[in-house]
Amino acid sequence: PVQTQIGLMSHDELRAELERQTARYEQLKAEKLKLDLTRGKPAPEQLDLSLDLLSLPGDGDFRDADGTDCRNYGGLAGLPELRAIFGELLGIPTANLVAGGNASLEIMHDTIAFSLLHGTSDSPRPWSQEPVVKFLCPAPGYDRHFAITESYGVEMIAIPMRDDGPDMSKVIELVSSDPQIKGMWCVPAYSNPTGAVYTEDIARALVSMPAAAPDFRLFWDNAYAVHPLVAQCAPVLDVLGMAAEAGHPNRPLVFASTSKITFAGSGVSFFGGSAQNVAWYLQHLGKKTIGPDKVNQLRHLRFFKDAAGVRAHMDKHREILAPKFALVRKILEDRLGASKVASWTDPKGGYFISLDVVDGTAKRVIQLAKEAGIALTAAGSAFPYKQDPADRNIRLAPSFPSMDELAKAMDGVATCVLLAAAEHALTKNQ
Ligand code: PMP
Repeated sequence: PVQTQIGLMSHDELRAELERQTARYEQLKAEKLKLDLTRGKPAPEQLDLSLDLLSLPGDGDFRDADGTDCRNYGGLAGLPELRAIFGELLGIPTANLVAGGNASLEIMHDTIAFSLLHGTSDSPRPWSQEPVVKFLCPAPGYDRHFAITESYGVEMIAIPMRDDGPDMSKVIELVSSDPQIKGMWCVPAYSNPTGAVYTEDIARALVSMPAAAPDFRLFWDNAYAVHPLVAQCAPVLDVLGMAAEAGHPNRPLVFASTSKITFAGSGVSFFGGSAQNVAWYLQHLGKKTIGPDKVNQLRHLRFFKDAAGVRAHMDKHREILAPKFALVRKILEDRLGASKVASWTDPKGGYFISLDVVDGTAKRVIQLAKEAGIALTAAGSAFPYKQDPADRNIRLAPSFPSMDELAKAMDGVATCVLLAAAEHALTKNQ
């Protein structure tokens, strides 16, 4: 049946629509679902792709090509051969890439803590001695980024995120005029949660724009560099090369990990930067550890062998993930397409779909879903201070549930979106 757009309904039509959606919602609740779309976790079948890691490096095989005994202390910058593989994938020379522990989030946290406590190599004083430290936060963005800066009292300024990167006129105006802006969160490829991919022009503008702070840093989180959902991966931007060319070699701090390549909890993380930034990071890192888990790094090296090995492995992830993303989009289109109560992104990679519902109803949709046993990421999560000014955005994470569960969950979400939209329209119409 052709659906009338909710915005065009008469009062009586709206009452009928509310009744229809309420009945459907009651059916949904009766199903007593217990489903979770909150976090971008790999599904068990994805983790199974890396099962061989558990028997690597194997008995008696604990030396890298240089003869380093990986079981022992040392090697602060990580195994050179593994850094070479990921350097090739990330477009970063081996010397400029450090391999670390299991979480790139930890490196992001530490680089901010080091900057606050010690300052960067370009800082006139530690950031904590500034009257105020501000960060630009393209939004919707990654909640855990914002949680780090919020926890240290960094003032976060939301910047509208577009399909090709952040709103650059805003960024340039603010960064060039306010010396308290010390950093900016960036997810350049398949960003969390919209899937936006920064264009080369935007990357160039970010590394070249004048900054009022001499120690302004781009926190360049390339978490999804090799995570396309389509055959052709977006080209990796040579942010370090572009920054050096623009005369700001120390501006980008690059982060990545194998969390969504091998095991989310037991992968290898990476830090990339100019020679000066790498020296700065290692100097402070050397106070908190004698060296990383090199056995795990060796395991990863043996498992992948080379960059082509990583790409081939990512093809297998894509085969599992792409149908899930297609399913979510199909259900959204089938259930919500005609009524025009929502719009959603069509990511070509990464782990999320960003769903925008009728302004003022995202909280209500999430509450309705929760009461029907469907957990969605908390309202406002993708915004600094969890403040979604339009109360409109919902982050969907399709990776973990099975296809069956996903279909049930998304159908339920669509019902909640329609019910909240009808309630909202009727309130306005009274
Ligand atoms: N950055 C982004 C943009 C992410 O989406 C995630 C995981 N959801 C991470 C970092 C976490 O990375 P790691 O596991 O290496 O800490």
